[in-house]
Amino acid sequence: MKQNQKKNYNKLSKYFRCLAVLGFFSICFTSCLDNEPAPIQIDHFIDNRLKPYFDKFKEEASARGFEFDFKELKVDGYIQGLSQSSVAGQCQTYETGNSAVIVQPIYWDNITELEKEFLIFHELGHCILDRAHLEDANPDGTCKSIMNSGGLFCDINYNIRTRDEYIDELFSN
Ligand SMILES: [Zn+2]
Repeated sequence: MKQNQKKNYNKLSKYFRCLAVLGFFSICFTSCLDNEPAPIQIDHFIDNRLKPYFDKFKEEASARGFEFDFKELKVDGYIQGLSQSSVAGQCQTYETGNSAVIVQPIYWDNITELEKEFLIFHELGHCILDRAHLEDANPDGTCKSIMNSGGLFCDINYNIRTRDEYIDELFSN
């Protein structure tokens, strides 16, 4: 995303978006009411458990002509408890200009590789691509976008066969 867009987005420091999961992606909130405490900023931090998925996102972006650096964009990644226990993950922005993907440990430990990719790509869709939720469904009821808010309005159908198409959609909007 462009730097000026990023700045505008960072102004919304009190507004953060999230993907909530109950069981397997069933409930989501489009915004969170509570502010999470800002993690201690050590220049730049991505939890080692999240790093492979951040790297995959960067690879998929690069394959589609988007080059960026997480450190330059000040986007971090943490696994830590969130005040809303039904929220699986969120993209939170801070007054410092940093933003962070924060993932709830209990979900992270109990979901598949593909579900982890889906969760991180969704949150980075907010943090990096500045995308909002998109609830549109295909005629068969499946979600059109990774950016759906957790399968509330369409059926999540993210799998090995469909992932390429979903990732194309993610970076083309
Ligand atoms: Zn979201």
